[in-house]
Amino acid sequence: MKIAVEGCAHGELEKIYDTIESIQKAEKIKIDLLLCCGDFQSTRNLEDLETMAVPKKYMDICTFYKYYSGEKIAPVLTIFIGGNHEASNYLQELPYGGWVAPNIYYMGYAGVVKVNGIRIAGLSGIYKSHDFFRGRHEFSPYSEATKKSVYHVRQLDVFRLKQLSGTIDICMSHDWPKGIYNYGNKAQLVRFKPHFKDEIETERLGSRPCEDLLNILQPSLWFAAHLHCKFAALVPHEETGRVTKFLALDKCLPKRRFLQVLDIDSVEHTDDGEIKLEYDLEWLTILFLTNHLISVKSSHHYMPGPNGSERYIFTPTDEEKEHVHKKLGYDLKIPENFCRTVEAFNPNDINTNPQQPKSQINPQSLQFCDNLGIDDPLSMAMIVGGHELSHSSTLDGSDLNDSGQFDQSNADMNSSCDTISPLKRKSNLCLPKPVGDLPAEASLTAEQRDSEEMTDISPAFISLTDDQCVPVIEEIPNLNAKPPMKKFKRRNEDIYKTEEDEEEL
Ligand SMILES: [Zn+2]
Ligand SMILES: [Zn+2]
Repeated sequence: MKIAVEGCAHGELEKIYDTIESIQKAEKIKIDLLLCCGDFQSTRNLEDLETMAVPKKYMDICTFYKYYSGEKIAPVLTIFIGGNHEASNYLQELPYGGWVAPNIYYMGYAGVVKVNGIRIAGLSGIYKSHDFFRGRHEFSPYSEATKKSVYHVRQLDVFRLKQLSGTIDICMSHDWPKGIYNYGNKAQLVRFKPHFKDEIETERLGSRPCEDLLNILQPSLWFAAHLHCKFAALVPHEETGRVTKFLALDKCLPKRRFLQVLDIDSVEHTDDGEIKLEYDLEWLTILFLTNHLISVKSSHHYMPGPNGSERYIFTPTDEEKEHVHKKLGYDLKIPENFCRTVEAFNPNDINTNPQQPKSQINPQSLQFCDNLGIDDPLSMAMIVGGHELSHSSTLDGSDLNDSGQFDQSNADMNSSCDTISPLKRKSNLCLPKPVGDLPAEASLTAEQRDSEEMTDISPAFISLTDDQCVPVIEEIPNLNAKPPMKKFKRRNEDIYKTEEDEEEL
């Protein structure tokens, strides 16, 4: 299988697809998959653009909207992670991943998918120590502070990725794993980017959580972007004899090294040459088993560790995976349920005073959370913040069939939508009645917010305060049901000590 890897896209989709086209012609090959390592800029319109953290002079709608509106179709299956320049409101609608346009799939805050059996893991955002332990409290419209913090990596997503077992073929991150420069041509890197010298010498360049993941997951390949230069490295893992090939690429600019094509053996082949995109069962089981660890508070929140009494290893057993597999009807195919929920940018109809839009709950996430029986952190954050949930609905007007599934037969992906009425929907999280019982984040003093002893009111358990609701956690083999109100003490904080902030590229 031919895989093209791209560094930062910075909204230049048209140029990237043109480049792919010309490589295909010149090399007489067909590229099956494009992986993009963030700064994707999936801005659908000028309102989305307002949610992107970028100086005004760089605010440019670029070309994604053409693929969103249907004016153009992505010529190759495109899978991407988020970086630090994104339509954050839109990506937040898809915390567990989903289609942002036909044939363009976002991996979520963290995610694992299989493409023709090739196992690909991704982590979105960049690492900043001061936000790492916070919950996912942000939603649009953002303040200047939350516009930035929204794309900072959180501990839960890293913790979840660390539970993976077996072989990972490809890992994608936006920022580089810390220390990676020690395994490649460091001198050349410093010549090309002299301002990295200090950070390299003081071991501050790159992401510590990514360094951990690199050592634990030991993927065959690791792709990254963010630092806007090409860099290759070879990392040997001594205990296992495995080796990770690392490759960072530049951003999409003329004469820059932003794209690389690799040939990787498919694990599975389809008869018709179609590309098979599937969920990873182990990953879905980890999401299911760790749903109770979601926090949407801005205060610090720690993952369980070996010193506590509760479960802290969530690498699923075969029984647990079977339980989730059965829930999904033994069907791991990622549904082609893209739907358009806002008007795409129209160059002839310019809004001269665009404002950040209100956060919306995406039908794709509703369906995913319902199927798996987990919670959408964006819905939770809005409820805790005392906001009404706004469910986006399709602009295309197609319907679900009786079984609630997207009907492939009467619509193609471009024009169809999986519309789930909020009224019809069974909720894992009961909405929005118990708000009054919850200490709203805004009403807490800074001291209270930072208090480690404060009872965690993880909104995953909001449902328990309402008789009609079903607890989020299901009783399954080897999974101890936990009390709804729990405390997370400082446990793993030493792992990531406060580090100085780096400039956000
Ligand atoms: Zn970046
Ligand atoms: Zn970038």
